Order: sequence, then C-alpha cells, then structure tokens
Amino acid sequence: MKTFLETPVEFLKGVGPKRAELLKKEVDIHTFGDLISYYPFRYVDRSRIYKIKEIEPDLAYVQLRGTITQVRIIGEKRARRMSAIFRDNTGEIELVWFQGIKWIEGTLLPNVEYIVFGKPTVFNRRYNIAHPEVERAADFDRTIAQTLQGIYSTTEKLKNRGLASKNLVKLLKELVLQSQGKIPENLPEEIRSKLSLICREEALRHIHFPEDQKKLQKAQARLKFEELFFIQLSLLKGKIIRQQKINGFVFASVGEYVNRFYRENLPFILTEAQKRVIKEIRKDLGSRKQMNRLLQGDVGSGKTMVALMSMLIAADNGYQSCLMAPTEILAIQHFNTLTRMTAGLGVRIDLLTGSTPASKRRELHEQLQAGELHILIGTHALIEDPVLFKNLGLVIIDEQHRFGVAQRARMWSKSDNPPHVLVMTATPIPRTLAMTLYGDLDISVIDELPPGRKPVKTLLYTDSARLRIFGFMKKKIQEGRQIYIVYPLIKESETMDLKHLADGYESIVRDFPPPEYAVSIVHGKMRPADKDYEMQRFVKNQTQIMVSTTVIEVGVDVPNASVMIIENAERFGLSQLHQLRGRVGRGADQSFCILITGEKVTTEARKRLQTMVETNDGFRIAEADLQLRGPGDLQGTKQSGILDLKIADIIRDEKILKYARNLANDILNEDPLLELDKNKPLARQLDKMKKDHVNWGLIS
Ligand code: ADP
Ligand code: MG
Repeated sequence: MKTFLETPVEFLKGVGPKRAELLKKEVDIHTFGDLISYYPFRYVDRSRIYKIKEIEPDLAYVQLRGTITQVRIIGEKRARRMSAIFRDNTGEIELVWFQGIKWIEGTLLPNVEYIVFGKPTVFNRRYNIAHPEVERAADFDRTIAQTLQGIYSTTEKLKNRGLASKNLVKLLKELVLQSQGKIPENLPEEIRSKLSLICREEALRHIHFPEDQKKLQKAQARLKFEELFFIQLSLLKGKIIRQQKINGFVFASVGEYVNRFYRENLPFILTEAQKRVIKEIRKDLGSRKQMNRLLQGDVGSGKTMVALMSMLIAADNGYQSCLMAPTEILAIQHFNTLTRMTAGLGVRIDLLTGSTPASKRRELHEQLQAGELHILIGTHALIEDPVLFKNLGLVIIDEQHRFGVAQRARMWSKSDNPPHVLVMTATPIPRTLAMTLYGDLDISVIDELPPGRKPVKTLLYTDSARLRIFGFMKKKIQEGRQIYIVYPLIKESETMDLKHLADGYESIVRDFPPPEYAVSIVHGKMRPADKDYEMQRFVKNQTQIMVSTTVIEVGVDVPNASVMIIENAERFGLSQLHQLRGRVGRGADQSFCILITGEKVTTEARKRLQTMVETNDGFRIAEADLQLRGPGDLQGTKQSGILDLKIADIIRDEKILKYARNLANDILNEDPLLELDKNKPLARQLDKMKKDHVNWGLIS
C-alpha cells in the first residue's frame, strides 16, 4: 500500500492528470512526497507594505495597499489585456492581466481597499505589475500574520498552465494541511534531541509557510541536516559493506625495491606532506582492506613520487601496478620520468597507449601475463583493450581532473578481486564537495609544495599590450628560460580554433624568427608521434617557445619553462587557468603567468581573472569557482545528479556537513548495518532512498 507521501500528485486537489503530467516532466514531481520537498528558493516578507513611490527597479516583489480607480480592456486578439490603475497616497501604478480576464474583471471594485502583491517591471518608462495577486485588505488583515511567503521556481510551461509560484503556494497549502499527522519521522529521537532539531512534519510545514524568521531557520536547519546526513550515511554504509565483502591484497612489507630506491635513487628529500601521504597509503596497502584513496595535491606538489613509491611497494610484494594518465603526452612523460628514477634497480616498466603498434602490444600482453613487467603506464587504452595481468595489485589514475575519476575508481573496484585504487587529482576540490562526491573514498592531501618554489606572478593584460609582452618574452629567452603560449579550444568550431592557433603560431614565428629562436607547436589533431617529437624538442630545450592548445594543460613537467602566456584567457574556466599556470613555477627562477584578454570581458570572466591574479592557492580557486558557477555546473556533476541538493548548500553549510559526516561515522561504528532498534528509522530512510534511485555510492 502506498503511504501518504507516495500518493501520486494528481490526486491532490487542484492538480489533476494534465497538470500532474506537466509537474513530472518539468520539475520531476511525481508524488506528494516530491511536492512537499519542493522547497521555496527564497522568501518575501509579506508583512512589509511598500508605498508606490518606493518602488525601484531592483525589487523582486512588492506588496502595496490601495484602491483601484479604473479598469479597462485594451488591445485586440493576442494583445488584448485588462489594465487597472491602482493608487495609494503616494502615486499610482498599472496592473495588467493578459489571461483570465473574464474571471477577474467583475471582481475588482472601486472604493474597496486591496492588497496587491507582485513583481514590478518597467514598461514605457513606467512601472506596472503583471498578474498580481489581489486580495481585499479586510481579508488580508484577518488572516493569521503570515509574514514570509515562499517563492518557488517554475518554468515557462508551468506558468502557462497555471502553475506559477503563487499557484504552487496554493497547492502546497492544501498539501501541508492534508499532511498533518501523516509525515513519519526519519531521524531517531536521540539525534533530534541532541541537536535540538524540530520534527520532520513541523519542519516541512515551516519551510513552506514560516510564521517568522526564527521558525524558518529551525526548519532549514533540520532539513539541511537531514539531507546531508543521509547522503553521508549512505556513502559510508556502502563503504563498510564493500570493505566487509572484499578482501584487499596485503602488501605486508617493504623490500629491496623500495629500500634501494630510497637509498640510491631518491633525487630529492621528500616533503613532509609526501612522507605523510606515503605512510597513509602504506598503511592501507598493508591492511586487509582494499584501498580506495583519493590523493589531492596542487599542481607541482609531487604526486608522481607518491605514485612511484606506492608501485614499488607493490613490486616488493610480488604485485604488478598500472598507472593511467589522461593523455598520451603525459603517459610518455611518466614513462620517461619513472624509467629514469628507477634506473639500475631492475624494476621493469613499459608503456601502452593508443598508438602502440599491434606487435609491441602483443609482446606487452605476453610479458604482463608472465609477470615479467612490474609497472605498466598508459592511457585509457589500458581499459579499452582488456589487458590481462598476472597479478595486478594496484591501479593509479593520474590527473584526470574530472569528477569522472571517481567513476573510474569504482569501476576497478567492482571486479571480484579488485586491486587497490589510488586516484590522484590536481583539481583542488573544496573539502565539502570532496566529502559529498567522494564520501566513500579516503582522502589524502599533499598540502605543501617542494621547497624553493617561488609563487608564480600573475599579470593581466589586454591585446594592446602585446608589444610589451613580446619584449618581455625576448628578455626571458635571453636569460635562458622557455615559454608556453596557450590558445583556447572550443569544441563547437574546431577548425576555427586551429586556424586561430595557426595564425598565432605564424605571428610568433614572425616576431621570433629562426635561427635565433625556435618555436614548437602542439595541438590535439596532430599525430601522436609528431606531438611527442615536438614535446621532446621543448623538453630538451631545443625550442624556446611552445605554442599549443590545452593539450599541455595536464601534467607536463619542464622546470626550465618560466613563462606561461594564455591567449583569450577570458574563455578559460578557473580550474583550467590554474592547471595551466601550474606548468610554470617549477624551477628556482621567478615565474610568470600572463593572461591576455580581448577588450570586452564579461563580469563573470573578470572575476575569474581577478581571482587568478589574487591567489595561487588551489583550494581558494576551487572555492571561487564553485561560488561563481554553482556546483551544478562543475564538470561531471550534472549528469551524475550527485549534487542535486534540495536545500543544503555545499559551501555555506560546510559546518553542518562535517557534523553530519562525523555523526554518521559514529553511528556506523556502533551499528554498521543499522540493525539496532533506535536506528531503524535510518535503515528505513536508506531503503527508501535506494528505491528512489538515489544511489550515492554508485554514480555510474
Ligand atoms: P604533480 O603533483 O603536479 O604531479 P610532479 O610529481 O610532476 O607534480 O612534481 C613536480 C616537480 O617537482 C617535478 O619536477 C618533481 O621532480 C619535483 N619534486 C617533487 N617532489 C619534490 C621534492 N620533495 N623536492 C623537490 N622537488 C620535488
Ligand atoms: Mg602530475
């Protein structure tokens, strides 16, 4: 039998089948439960009565008190509308109706005081209010002091079918009335009293119809907590179940590979952060648990070393590892770096990418199955063509600065005998977001850069400063430094972009002619072999300037390059800009990032660029990014629906989130499967969430 909240929404008075269909399509409201959790996105104070002369353009809603002096019907056919003049003792304003004229016409009387509520807009340099709510002042005064009224988001289609915000208010009034005594509590009494949270039914009533600001805050606090708490509970419970079911490979000890590497090959002293993170990983690998760890570390923080040490631990215990990079360039670079670093140790490393020839591929497969290779480095070709290992013990996924990493990681951990998984990302994800997105992964953070790094200086210029910038470049090249110039790439017109890039390249070559200068160019449409050739020339300092699209965005490491120039910087997102800037500032020299923009830049783009100039801190940039774009826009989150939060705000409600996570942890520590009586409501709610297909544990 359906519970009250599961009742289809068409059975609510005022809805019916047609509107129900629309509610489903437009705003995903299917049941009473869906409708009652469709919360206002803001509130207007209905205790405030404005004077007409106080109206100004920024006001979203006003409430006026006055009388109607004149009602006329004007215009023909589609332009037909009813207009009324409404006045108080400070002035007059026009009220307009385009629909429902017949119905409203007879109800507006002269010499009667009305309360009018609506959104003023400017038309012909005068204010009017279209489709206002009109109520007799006498009735208004009699109703219980309802001070705050919810405003609900709707769509054009809904509005056209009589489901504007004010109509939703009516529906919700009916629903809230009917729901009395029918809304089950889903938080145990113990938690509620500890946090002094009001009960669910009361919260739902006050979120829609708050009597005052205080009641509204109580309702918000309760519902935000509930939302975040159940996400965390579900994620953490999923993790516990996974760990109980899965036995991880045990890498019990470190051996010769690690020890010799540390003694003989270590090229620098590890930072404290690197040491700490390696320790965390070692602990995971030595336990019976299967590791599922996210390693966050800003660009240049030295994640590669952590990856290498982890893979050496695997090798010491007789297991193979693979390291997956998002681009071929990066895979090749990793291959070169790791081969160099492990020289003389007898660790066998090889490379597999999309352009590995079939014969070499076959050979690799054989060696992997025979267990002759310790470490395989590659691109997603590793997944696409199923590579068989003798005993794969560790998978490392590098620099996929997309949220897809989590999906990837989960894919690996779904097999019957899953390897340990380490996901490395340079995208600084705000902690709150990480907790929500990756709540079931453990997180390690490298929060320290190798010593001696000078923060990159970031400068903002428009096109007109080009000559000065060229002068600066020549000076830097004279000092022996190298330079990147990056052009944006927008998918919609790839040919245009390439032309842009080619033009840029030509103009650079004109100003930096051979034989004095040598310029490289790299873009996504090049053959991998050509790309690699050009990259290598730059790496070896045979070319001083590298002109490219964002293919160099990820992971390329040329410490001698100290200038990053970004063309059309306004067209890049914040995290991309930050990634690009991370390509420089790796050597001992002062590095520069020069952002060049067109003359016209939107306010939002300006904020992005300003943020870049102001800070080098990846976490601050990530937070600014989140604030500017909203979590829904972050790559990968929309499709996954994972941030489809109804009321909580991932930035503003960080405290609640942390609290919710700790509490969920405590509860699961005591009662991992939620079997105790007091936790029954929690188990029920999780079941319900599963039924509603909100499966936080498995995004893919
Ligand atoms: P990312 O975290 O961006 O992958 P890398 O692993 O590429 O960073 O490291 C960036 C640069 O810093 C490399 O040139 C690397 O050799 C160097 N590096 C890493 N760790 C240290 C350290 N502890 N001391 C000095 N240099 C380091
Ligand atoms: Mg890296």
